[in-house]
Amino acid sequence: MMSKEFKLTYATMFNPPEELHTQFENALNHVKANLGREYGMIINGKDVFSEEKFEDHSPINTDWTLAIMQKGDKTHANSALTAARAAFPSWSNTPWQERVMLLRKVADLIDSRIYDLGATMALEVGKNRMESLGDVAEIGDLIRYACDSMEQNAGFVVEMGKDPLIGYDVTNCSVLKPYGVWLVISPFNFPGALTGGPVGAALVAGNTVVMKPATDTPWLVRKLAECFIDAGIPDGVVNFVTGPGSTLGQALIDSSEVDGVTFTGSYDVGMKIFRDYAGGKYVRPIILELGGKNPTIVSKNANLDDAAAGIIRSAFGLQGQKCSACSRVYIEEQVYDDLVARLVELTNKISVGDPTNKEVWLGPVINNSSYGDYQEFVTELSEVGNVLTGGKVITDGELSKGYFCAPTLVADVPHTHRLWKQEMFLPITTIAKISNLEEGMRLANDVDYGLTAGFYGSEDEVKWFFNNIQAGVTYANRPQGSTTGAWPGYQPFGGWKGSGSSGKNAGGHYYLLLYLHEQIQTVVH
Ligand code: NAP
Ligand code: MG
Repeated sequence: MMSKEFKLTYATMFNPPEELHTQFENALNHVKANLGREYGMIINGKDVFSEEKFEDHSPINTDWTLAIMQKGDKTHANSALTAARAAFPSWSNTPWQERVMLLRKVADLIDSRIYDLGATMALEVGKNRMESLGDVAEIGDLIRYACDSMEQNAGFVVEMGKDPLIGYDVTNCSVLKPYGVWLVISPFNFPGALTGGPVGAALVAGNTVVMKPATDTPWLVRKLAECFIDAGIPDGVVNFVTGPGSTLGQALIDSSEVDGVTFTGSYDVGMKIFRDYAGGKYVRPIILELGGKNPTIVSKNANLDDAAAGIIRSAFGLQGQKCSACSRVYIEEQVYDDLVARLVELTNKISVGDPTNKEVWLGPVINNSSYGDYQEFVTELSEVGNVLTGGKVITDGELSKGYFCAPTLVADVPHTHRLWKQEMFLPITTIAKISNLEEGMRLANDVDYGLTAGFYGSEDEVKWFFNNIQAGVTYANRPQGSTTGAWPGYQPFGGWKGSGSSGKNAGGHYYLLLYLHEQIQTVVH
């Protein structure tokens, strides 16, 4: 995609070729010279404008108005669903080979726009440039994975046995078919992959789609929606609406015109949606990808350099706003002091600032509400534990115009404290000393979440870790990230317990099946 020798993933992004930086900067200049444009929703292939608008500001500097977006309401929800319904017969009857071909075109088009989309992402989410490019690169790979899945399974048409009816010839066939209109609601933190991935899978399967991005990230998703349209996905097959989750989003969830949902976001919103959606006439599929409270356990036998690097990358990458962020660390007492010293040292070296700059790794948190949460949580934690480093918002010079928070490590917080269990979604990680690995495992599993988890220790201990940890994505001895950095095709992504509903990870073997229902076709000839 970027060069023949370099494949960008979250595990390879630490040493990119120089050309990537040059291209990113050119795109950034271009995007910044075109800020503040108004963008419509896209319904039935046409731009649709609502009476009310909202401004999308950058968390890097809230004086930067990135885009003017539409504040859609129930009427827009309904017209998008109507368009998707009308487009379903023809899209679902399009041979799957043709859908696959079109979706591969979409993936290639997204790749060709990676620098523009990456710069947009960096400005809108506050992600650093490598994370931004990674999120965009992941979209194409997720879509291609769904296409490959369809192909490898020959469109999911399976000849079954012939029943032994004497005097008759019988054929039996299993066919997986799309459900109909699929709703995709995505979160702010990975607006690329977590919108484009589910949309791609739903479309390859033959469903038509309505997508609704988070209010913090409609601009990137609008540009992503354009990729689908520009690659030739027919009118009405993908629709894009923007507006508040509590009104527009709720109207979509409450509609009987929705046949399936992929929601990625917080546990609280996800559970509310799940309950409301269940109020329909019959049971319809809903895929929930929710929050995390991801632990890393470190044994006395660990390589502490790898552990320190992996933990810090996962604790603070994207300012701790990854569902997979490492928010809890349990360290065996023999190596506790040594590792904690390294963690503090690495944290103090992190460059904080405008994340579009090459040398900056840590950008702002997403919005004023998260900025307020950070201040509240560090105050609360400092009253019960020891803040080892960080603990303050950063207001030097230009940074006072954005939501910058120092990466924060806190030790000695009592295990009964609520913030050991609640997802903070901020650059705050709590650390505890454990007297043995069993204690670490008990604490690690003692939460309602089960998304990702990390471990550092000996080979035998690694087996024990995999056997006992309750999580959907698990890593051992990985300096590239203790709990973060999954990539489609390598680490399909999904959670257990309160972290996810389907038990089948996105970007993996079993994912596409979630978008299809089975029909058995028996014919007596
Ligand atoms: P969020 O606040 O739960 O919002 C997610 C989406 O739901 C947004 O588009 C939001 O729209 C919409 N929404 C809110 N209320 C709604 C309602 N009543 N009906 C329909 N839609 C509604 O999550 P976020 O802050 O954007 O994202 C962070 C969360 O996502 C974290 O908890 C993180 O762990 C989780 N996450 C999970 C995964 C995973 O794969 N498991 C991946 C990434 C993130 P508005 O923005 O307009 O409110
Ligand atoms: Mg914003």
